[in-house]
Amino acid sequence: MASVLITGGARGIGKGIATAFLQEGHHVMIADLSSARNWNYDLATEDVMAETVAELKDFGDIRSVGLDVTDAASCDKAVVATIDAFSGIDILCNNAGVLASGPIEDMAEEDWDRVFDVNVKGIFNMTRSALAALRSSDSAAIVNTASIAGKRGTPDLSAYTASKFAVIGLTQSLALELAPAGIRVNAVCPGIIGTAMWLDHLMADQGKAAFEERMQQNIPLGRPQSEQDIGEAVRYLATAENVTGVSLSVSGGLVMD
Ligand code: NAD
Repeated sequence: MASVLITGGARGIGKGIATAFLQEGHHVMIADLSSARNWNYDLATEDVMAETVAELKDFGDIRSVGLDVTDAASCDKAVVATIDAFSGIDILCNNAGVLASGPIEDMAEEDWDRVFDVNVKGIFNMTRSALAALRSSDSAAIVNTASIAGKRGTPDLSAYTASKFAVIGLTQSLALELAPAGIRVNAVCPGIIGTAMWLDHLMADQGKAAFEERMQQNIPLGRPQSEQDIGEAVRYLATAENVTGVSLSVSGGLVMD
């Protein structure tokens, strides 16, 4: 069974990824912010992470560790905690992410920087911290959570979109760079999932019913994606032995390339 480290694992898509791996008997370390951070919507805290561990522990071996992916020393600590718990790391899921929205002239420079620090540099930091452990694994894989926003432009989402294009570029480069070491690197590109990004930020003033209705109308397969949809795709990318460099859209047909 594999040892899996999932950043941004306390809730939302990260929790769906954790569930998918636990259901197949893998060992899971979720890593997320341990204290409240000032952002456009509430991010996870230690309490949220503890609730998730309590909820998922019946599925299998799940642990948690505090992590800030923008801090290289914090990434090193999360890696050490995972190796201590499970004697190694086979699969790294770089899933932590933040979103900022609005016209470019209104975007605060610190918001632009934060989006890139978490979404892009966070993957750089975590990958570097975990690489020695991944090189020691016989079945190593990295799965980055990009987005369909990384495949085509979207108005009022310039920083987020640019960061997700960067995640896909990083994924393809690392797939080639690490192939000789047998480490596969892929990205999942979720479509639209009703997590905090949508319900507490993008459509916070409209509510969940309006979100569901809009997605039913706009998504070819007639519904938003679930956390489970993305978890299953990540598990596939992490375990498919001859797949690397892929950016797999899971969007109900919203984006097809
Ligand atoms: P979410 O806000 O519930 O999850 C993101 C997690 O990342 C949170 O738990 C948050 O605490 C954590 N995080 C933020 N900054 C961090 C940091 N510095 N260090 C460690 N953890 C940090 O939202 P989500 O929708 O579950 O997002 C998960 C991933 O999926 C993100 O990369 C997001 O960009 C991507 N995504 C989401 C959607 C969607 O529709 N919800 C679509 C495409 C891609």
